[in-house]
Amino acid sequence: MMAMVKADAYGHGMEDAALAFASAGCTRFGVAELCEGVRLRLSGITGDIYVTIGFDLEDVDSFFSYDLIPVVYSFEAVSALSKKALSLGRNIGVHLKVDTGMSRLGLLPENVGPFLNHISELKGVKVVGVMSHLPASDQPLSGSTETGLKNFDVACGELDDNVDTICHIANSGAVLNFPDAHCDMVRAGIALYGYDPAGQVGGKHGGRYGEKNGLVPAMSFHSRVLQVKELPAGTGISYGHTFVTEKSTKIAIIPVGYEDGFSRSLSNSGEVLIHGELAPVCGRICMNMCMIDVSTIAGVQAGDEVVLMGTQGQKEISADDIAAKIGTISYEVLCMFGNNNSREYQVG
Ligand SMILES: *Cc1c(COP(=O)(O)O)cnc(C)c1O
Repeated sequence: MMAMVKADAYGHGMEDAALAFASAGCTRFGVAELCEGVRLRLSGITGDIYVTIGFDLEDVDSFFSYDLIPVVYSFEAVSALSKKALSLGRNIGVHLKVDTGMSRLGLLPENVGPFLNHISELKGVKVVGVMSHLPASDQPLSGSTETGLKNFDVACGELDDNVDTICHIANSGAVLNFPDAHCDMVRAGIALYGYDPAGQVGGKHGGRYGEKNGLVPAMSFHSRVLQVKELPAGTGISYGHTFVTEKSTKIAIIPVGYEDGFSRSLSNSGEVLIHGELAPVCGRICMNMCMIDVSTIAGVQAGDEVVLMGTQGQKEISADDIAAKIGTISYEVLCMFGNNNSREYQVG
């Protein structure tokens, strides 16, 4: 298992998440960018760290000084690594990225053979892995995973029978849906944070699709009520007065806005939990605040806990619930909330 901890571990905090995974026995970690890999190494993580989206050629020395594993897809990158390896008198293992149908980063399958030949002539660089990525493993019926796996098989077939070489293609969707795709290693991201990549199924507050796989969200988002007041009928709320009260309305103001990842797209549509009840956002979400209609909830006071994501009493708001409202996926909601707020960790 490679634990994907890019994007600050999907908003959960890269160092803390990686330490938690390490203490659970994980020894391989994936980041996108080189600077993330350096940061992770400096945090004291001792396992393998893979840098998956390439790097500036002038930064190749970081792979040696921080003991990071490069993912490569260009002659220029392997040549730069080879040169550096020779000048340091060292060797470096690289993983080859193949594009098997995602149409993102990687060599097209027909170029894998020639590329491997090229690398075999370079000193100091050895291919120790081949990897690819699947575009729709969360949709088991799409057919693209079968195609991707077939192309990946062909690409891996170009390798010498080198026992040291590992092949990996499975993201969370393939971990959950395609046992045949697990190969030598899987690279799980969203599932480690408690969500199924397929997101929410069902209607309003349909919960988490991941529930069926026993996935439990790691992140919740909490705040407190700043002020409560009663406004008469006909009162406009927030910028643009896009919400006007129809009757006397009790609103709670909370110190969460789009700056905190509570997307402005949730204006007049988002919900939060107060006293265990769902309460709607009224009016536009401001930069640092928003207004919540608490007319139907008795006794709300300044200081009361507000849950923007997570459970309170019997009710839950999941990242999938929020994502469905604004046309995105749990991944983005977790990044927005997690990467814009202070975090508290609990072992649970
Ligand atoms: C992010 C990422 C993953 C993990 O994807 P999930 O859908 O979160 O499991 C796997 N492989 C690569 C290369 C990635 O960038």
